[in-house]
Amino acid sequence: MTTTPTIELKPSSSPLSDAEREAILANPGFGRHFTDHMVTIKWTEGRGWHDAQLTPYAPLSMDPANMTLHYAQEIFEGLKAYRRPDGSISLFRPEANAERFQISAKRLAMPELPVETFVAACDALVGQDQAWVPPHGGEESLYLRPFMIANEVGLGVRPANEYLFIVIASPAGAYFPGGVKPVSIWLSEDRVRAVPGGIGFAKTGGNYAASLLAQAEAAAKGCDQVAYLDAVEHKWVEELGGMNLYFVYDNKIVTPELTGSLLAGITRDSLLRLARDLGYEAEESRVSIDQWQRDTENGTLKEVFACGTAAVITPVGRVKSASGEWTQSGGEPGEVTLKLRRTLLDIQTGAAPDPHGWTHNI
Ligand code: PMP
Repeated sequence: MTTTPTIELKPSSSPLSDAEREAILANPGFGRHFTDHMVTIKWTEGRGWHDAQLTPYAPLSMDPANMTLHYAQEIFEGLKAYRRPDGSISLFRPEANAERFQISAKRLAMPELPVETFVAACDALVGQDQAWVPPHGGEESLYLRPFMIANEVGLGVRPANEYLFIVIASPAGAYFPGGVKPVSIWLSEDRVRAVPGGIGFAKTGGNYAASLLAQAEAAAKGCDQVAYLDAVEHKWVEELGGMNLYFVYDNKIVTPELTGSLLAGITRDSLLRLARDLGYEAEESRVSIDQWQRDTENGTLKEVFACGTAAVITPVGRVKSASGEWTQSGGEPGEVTLKLRRTLLDIQTGAAPDPHGWTHNI
């Protein structure tokens, strides 16, 4: 059933004061503060989507036997609203997030929210809480977190017959307030994030739970992020816990192909197209860990970077594994990395024209 309900607006009678909100926006961090409102939409078997509301941000009351708490039928998305030079606000490719949300829903046996309803919910929340979108000029944004959980009470293992879709928003500071800094990567040769036939391509909490121990081990080895290899041969580079990877050769950029066990990042997809606009060859193919090390050592692999909504593009400066360690581009952000980062960020923030029609004005 694909009903598209209208969102009923029930705004808060006691939003934060301007002074309180501005104090938060002066140092928002990431995911620590939330705006005054949220949007909720329910889904019930036989009835479809209903009761779409914008209400004050508030805790959920949940039965301890809610099926999400036991069997993890949960999916989410992440996208940003930016303030443009003229003071208006735009989202970056929200339809792409909505489509990925449907792909995740299908894999987790959940109902697929219509794309226009997903986008309308984001628009309603940002429209209501627009004072929370930081000013143009920096890299600050309002991060939106749409998600869906099972909302049926019971311990039987089967797809739930009720769901709750929610959008919340949180102001996000610049990822690199002191300038872009390369990260160090721990190559996990034993722990994997996702398996063929599994849920790696879906944006669901379980994939992140599966990555936390490896992430803690990486931190103990002095690394910032983990790179995962494929689960069968432990040979092919897949992605980081929350970002896709790109390898920069002379006039070519290469990103691991979508095999089903990695997430199809929207930043990854945007960069494939932007790189071609800038005259680079852009290729999706398999990259082995041996190739990564060998091409760095023989000088043909010039730069490596990670990409995702949170940091846009993050240069990789150092790679460590149980069997070796090497420096990438002298440990400095590479030229192509920085050029692609600037090009994409300028489109997202409205500082440059948007040749692909990616920005969605609120
Ligand atoms: N891979 C994973 C596992 C992620 O969580 C993310 C962040 N959503 C990405 C890649 C990058 O995706 P996007 O560019 O859509 O943010």
